[in-house]
Amino acid sequence: MNGGACSAGRSRWVEFDSVVSVEIHVQLATESKLFCRCASVYGAQPNTSVCPVCLGLPGSLPVVNREAFELGICAALALSCEVSSICTFDRKNYFYPDLPKSYQITQHYSALGRNGRIEIEDNGGARQIQIDRVHIEEDAGKIVYDETTGESLIDFNRCGVPLLEIVTKPWVTTPEEVYKYLVAIKQVLQYTGVSDCDMEKGNLRCDVNISVMEQGAQEFGTRTEVKNLNSFRAVQKALEYEKKRQIELIRQGKKVVMETLLYDDVSGKTALQRSKEQAQDYRYFPEPDLHPFFISGEWLESVRSKMVELPGARRERFIREYFLPRYDAGVLTGDREIADFFEKCVTLHNSPKVISNWIMGEVMKTLNEKKVSLSDLNLSPAQLVELINLLESGEITNLVAKDVLAAVIETGKSPRDIIAQKGLRQESAEDALRAVVDKVIASNPVPAVEYKKGKKTAAQFLIGQVMKETKGRANPQIVARLVLEALDKAAPENPQK
Ligand code: ZN
Ligand code: MN
Repeated sequence: MNGGACSAGRSRWVEFDSVVSVEIHVQLATESKLFCRCASVYGAQPNTSVCPVCLGLPGSLPVVNREAFELGICAALALSCEVSSICTFDRKNYFYPDLPKSYQITQHYSALGRNGRIEIEDNGGARQIQIDRVHIEEDAGKIVYDETTGESLIDFNRCGVPLLEIVTKPWVTTPEEVYKYLVAIKQVLQYTGVSDCDMEKGNLRCDVNISVMEQGAQEFGTRTEVKNLNSFRAVQKALEYEKKRQIELIRQGKKVVMETLLYDDVSGKTALQRSKEQAQDYRYFPEPDLHPFFISGEWLESVRSKMVELPGARRERFIREYFLPRYDAGVLTGDREIADFFEKCVTLHNSPKVISNWIMGEVMKTLNEKKVSLSDLNLSPAQLVELINLLESGEITNLVAKDVLAAVIETGKSPRDIIAQKGLRQESAEDALRAVVDKVIASNPVPAVEYKKGKKTAAQFLIGQVMKETKGRANPQIVARLVLEALDKAAPENPQK
């Protein structure tokens, strides 16, 4: 893992480690905004969900949204943070057209949660990523560039929407591990209902800081910040690019400059947004319009008691309780909806591995193809279990079962109805099958002769042809037996016998 181009001036080839810290902003899944009663909606008509508070009109005063804090506490607990017992707010002052107050209310001096951690899977083992802080703040509005008129328009609907900012400590890592960290964080936030984490709607955004240092070095190198990352894969690719770029600079005897870069997903490169040589001065000071308030032990406990089982714990339980391979357990628990679906199926039919295979195979394939989530599909646990039962009782073949599943998803009808309607019941009436076998053998003389000469594998081809002829409806075991019977009957004494 190194940057490539070797500088001529250097006699010693050194390897580099990258040090990364990740800053995530997620939108809390509240009904209303952080300091007013405006609805926290996405995709509404611009500037329809606004009021004097979130527009920062003179004389208006903010009031804290309790639901936002419940969600924030829930996230802090799920990430094993120490939760602050007193909550304070601060103003971060800066001017930007989409920030009508000219300051953002945030938690600068005291964060809601500190010193947390999250576990990620690391080649079968586990690794803990340290979280520095989790705090609550309000979002800004959105600038929309109108390409037809060339105007810049401002939509204030997002102003004051509650955000949770999650910042890791810098750690020695790889771009791939950072990707895993993001997946793990998203799973926890979705499981706990803290956020929908829909990156397309912009309710999960992340920025990364990266520096490189010689392996074994004690001091971190100069870091750059990369923004404009619209997917977890983009984060990984941007880090890979930036790591390589920084290593090459150092190998050429040049210096990494502290700056903010924008990542372009199309070219796969980073480009300068602004130089960061002077840190911006936000003139933080305590927010005078909001009283500090206490988070009691009771409140913490009540949030904790309502918390769902977290993905990591659930994965371990799936391995323990259902004897699933670690891989299956990881995939199934990666999405709460899928894990719930799996467990409902298992209560109806106690074959966890068979159910897991169906969900990880056909069901998830369909979800990927259609780019939807499980709740968007016409498929209930009862329907999947009915299908598995029909398959296990031999009424349909595996091949047919896949078609039936597709039809269930398409129509919402029960597997039994679809089978009856389409006449897909397994052909095990032997006489009908025997006729097909004879026909296939007659029209494929070469493999039949080869079989007679002792090439046993030639029978496989004929079995395949019969299955094809019956459109996969025949029971493969019966077909195999009938084909062998027919061939042996026609075959002379095997000379090698
Ligand atoms: Zn408002
Ligand atoms: Mn922030």
